[in-house]
Amino acid sequence: MKTKHPKIPTLKQFLEQFPTNDSCLDHLMETRYGKRHVCAKCDKLANFHRVKSRRCFECDFCGYQVYPTAGTPFENTRTSLRDWFTVMFLFCTSRNGVSAKEVQRTIGVTYKTAWRMCNLIRQYMGYVDGDTPLGGPDGKIVEADKMFYGGKDKKGEDDKSVVLGMIERGGEVITRVLPSKGARQVLPAIFQRVKGGSRIATDEAGAFRELSENGYLHGTINHREGQYVNGQVHTNTIEAFWSHVKRSMRGTYVSVSKKWLQTYLWEFEYRQNFRKQPHVMLDVLLRSFPRPYADT
Ligand SMILES: [Zn+2]
Repeated sequence: MKTKHPKIPTLKQFLEQFPTNDSCLDHLMETRYGKRHVCAKCDKLANFHRVKSRRCFECDFCGYQVYPTAGTPFENTRTSLRDWFTVMFLFCTSRNGVSAKEVQRTIGVTYKTAWRMCNLIRQYMGYVDGDTPLGGPDGKIVEADKMFYGGKDKKGEDDKSVVLGMIERGGEVITRVLPSKGARQVLPAIFQRVKGGSRIATDEAGAFRELSENGYLHGTINHREGQYVNGQVHTNTIEAFWSHVKRSMRGTYVSVSKKWLQTYLWEFEYRQNFRKQPHVMLDVLLRSFPRPYADT
């Protein structure tokens, strides 16, 4: 399915694919259940037909009803499916993020509704992207680095958030907001998300010092182990990611609260991790909802 120059879908393509609310609901039904599937109630392979004016489909045999929006961010909202899909389109096609103000203007909802939609989409992007561990003995070099975000609290005291970022060169990025910047927080976060035996490059911060003792081939900017050749130990890739995130946050979001910082980072992770296949970014987002039958 690889095309030579994969591109982000255009607004025109998007509108052709999803011209109506019904087309969005059909899409959810097809990707989550299949219009023809084994009915959870009568156990027959059945066609499911649309129930008029409701967001549901009904088994041809027993009348069992399936709501394809169940368990998605669209469940229990009055916002139309097409508006939801449109905002997801914006999230996938923007480079620097989507503000609630922009959503408010684009689909004509209140600011509060727009903010809530953006928040749910960011959380969902984090779920879809997941955190598959990076590196490994045969993997590429992983760069790990801390980023400090924010400023002072109301009393004027330092109130920056600590974010750990790990990026496999040419591969994926994972970020994690940590309660503090010391080794007790940083090391376990790395153990969990970077495979043992990986080559890992960091700066000389104390929090990274014990990586060698824990089975990593650790190179710091001024000191590298034998496994590295000249010039391999740097953190340029993760630093470039941080500067993109910070610039975009400043430009699009102005300020992001501590409480929601991780969700904004998930959004940036999602786009970064799909950067080589932007043409499927939206498609993946619109078909990755958890399989609803699993928890019934
Ligand atoms: Zn049935």
